[in-house]
Amino acid sequence: MKVYRGAGVPAVDGLDFSVAAGEIFGLLGPNGAGKTTAISIVCTLLRQTSGRVLLCSHDTALYPSRVRGLFGLAPQDLALYPSLSARENLSYFGRLYGLTGRPLSSRVGECLALVGLADHADTRVDAYSGGMKRRANLAAAILHTPRLLILDEPTVGIDAQSRNMILENLKGLRDAGMTIVYTTHHLVEAEQLCDRVAIMDRGSIIATGTPEALVRQVDGCANLEDYFLHLTGTELRD
Ligand code: ADP
Ligand code: MG
Repeated sequence: MKVYRGAGVPAVDGLDFSVAAGEIFGLLGPNGAGKTTAISIVCTLLRQTSGRVLLCSHDTALYPSRVRGLFGLAPQDLALYPSLSARENLSYFGRLYGLTGRPLSSRVGECLALVGLADHADTRVDAYSGGMKRRANLAAAILHTPRLLILDEPTVGIDAQSRNMILENLKGLRDAGMTIVYTTHHLVEAEQLCDRVAIMDRGSIIATGTPEALVRQVDGCANLEDYFLHLTGTELRD
């Protein structure tokens, strides 16, 4: 559970889910559902009010430095220095992960090529389009080849080409053995991409399963978006 200082209601409450190695797990929910709060707790950026998170059997609150090397995070608010190029950004983050010299420069080149930024590697990030920034944010999160990749809304507000490239990258990383947890409110995308999903609303998980199994639960639901509206209702969450 997480109650922000001064808040009347918890931002997350009774959240219980587990992610299997090698799957793409989607944490879905409308705006304000608590996705970013949950992700921030898992990544040790925010301390929970109560409850436990285990990453690869390590308690994240007890052993934050042990778990930090296990995952890569692509946060909702881009983690890039706007006045540096993508190559400079990645080189900086790579050094924080302990990479140096030729292994660092070749890994930076590899990650930028993976997200289609090889030709723009030396352009300042503030000159990038939204899609290029999201792709660079993803490249920064996988530099150290983490076992677990966590992405918070990696495809929000970008064009179809960048979205498609990011989704193909995520499938490729999963197929190469990486475990992926990502949040989105884009249900069509989640249905295509995720092996399993959890649907959050108002701080709690209200359904978990494979997209196909969830859709089958309710008569008349054609897809995950129908199921999501069936569960969460059509009231606006501004
Ligand atoms: P989501 O990522 O699903 O849109 P968030 O985790 O950002 O949801 O927010 C969950 C709830 O917590 C919302 O009601 C939001 O207003 C509140 N909240 C988020 N961050 C803070 C904060 N730093 N202080 C107080 N309340 C917050
Ligand atoms: Mg969020």
